[in-house]
Amino acid sequence: MQQIIGTIKNKAGFIIDMDGVIYHGNKLLPGVNEFVSWMENSGKKFLFLTNSSERTPRELHEKLKRLGIEVGEDHFYTSALATAGFLASQKPDGSAYIIGDAGLIHALYSSGYTTNNVNPDYVVVGDTHSYSFDKIELAVNLVLKGARLIGTNPDVSGPVEKGITPSTKALIAPIEIASGKKAYFVGKPNPLMMRIALKKLGTSREDTIVIGDRMDTDVRCGLESEIDTLLVLSGITSKDEIDKFPYRPKYVLNGVVDLV
Ligand SMILES: [Mg+2]
Repeated sequence: MQQIIGTIKNKAGFIIDMDGVIYHGNKLLPGVNEFVSWMENSGKKFLFLTNSSERTPRELHEKLKRLGIEVGEDHFYTSALATAGFLASQKPDGSAYIIGDAGLIHALYSSGYTTNNVNPDYVVVGDTHSYSFDKIELAVNLVLKGARLIGTNPDVSGPVEKGITPSTKALIAPIEIASGKKAYFVGKPNPLMMRIALKKLGTSREDTIVIGDRMDTDVRCGLESEIDTLLVLSGITSKDEIDKFPYRPKYVLNGVVDLV
């Protein structure tokens, strides 16, 4: 155990999922404060990488600050930013019909995109509370007219204090079914997210670790990018659920609390 912890702490780069690793809803998880301070004081490179596309890095920074942790905005990377970067590389200065919240809208504008509900290049769907029949109907018809369908992240649901909340894959499903077109998803486990994260950290694959609480996104994404993975049991996955998957994380700990 001590040896495993030593190996993990010797890594230069840390790619860290947020929900289930850092906090649960609005509750900070044990040891997180000490873990973040340790990374800062030890000169580690770290990036909080979330599949959630609702919030901007600034809003995530504010959320952590409210929970008592202050790290710069550039330590956050979301599936909304990854989606905007991906679209800007596929079709620079394009247009999109967006069903999503501030995190996604802001990211797309910042990457040179404009909104368009007549003949957009893309229909982009992300995590949102503003979702309606009219929006689905318009999106379906835009896709049928040739707009490409993009989802920020393939999560079906996410944890909230009252239970779970439908996430992007569930929100985009009616558009896929009615249009007969399948969406392309950018967030984890798409290895694109890990490649971008590594580039931002400037560390090598071998010298980096992915810390997450989900087997199907965090662990799979690290695995497919050949980065060591640490599954923490402080989120959605329990110890006996690991065996239900055809792949394994490299390390398993109770939470980041074990690292401090
Ligand atoms: Mg998580």
